[in-house]
Amino acid sequence: MAYEYDSENIFAKILRGDIPNDTVAETELSLAFRDINPAAPEHILAIPKGAYVNYDHFAAEASDAEIVDFNRMVARITRAVGVAQAAGGEGYRLITNAGPHGVQDVPHFHLHILGGRRLGRMISS
Ligand code: AMP
Repeated sequence: MAYEYDSENIFAKILRGDIPNDTVAETELSLAFRDINPAAPEHILAIPKGAYVNYDHFAAEASDAEIVDFNRMVARITRAVGVAQAAGGEGYRLITNAGPHGVQDVPHFHLHILGGRRLGRMISS
């Protein structure tokens, strides 16, 4: 089944500049901004600018340049906000949700970067 991207999703609107965001990092190919409803002291969403619905879409079809750019940006953010142990932090968690079982609300691939406190068990229910 082909991937179908809904260009009216909220992150597509952020990328078009239709709604504001609290930008943490931006490159030509990727954007990161603070989650509007943070679940931890640091809760940042990293997204590619390309139209990918979820992780498997991005990992399978994005260009090498997009994939490298995205992952390097995420690594820079973990250091910049001080959660990476290499930056003296106590660590972090990366989560990406896909589809109904993953409880994905926004159908544009995004990685949650969570940190700033001990996060507890990964799955609660
Ligand atoms: P997910 O359930 O993985 O699709 O997560 C979607 C995330 O997007 C949630 O954590 C929301 O709080 C967040 N979110 C929704 N709208 C916005 C927005 N306009 N700006 C920043 N974060 C948002």
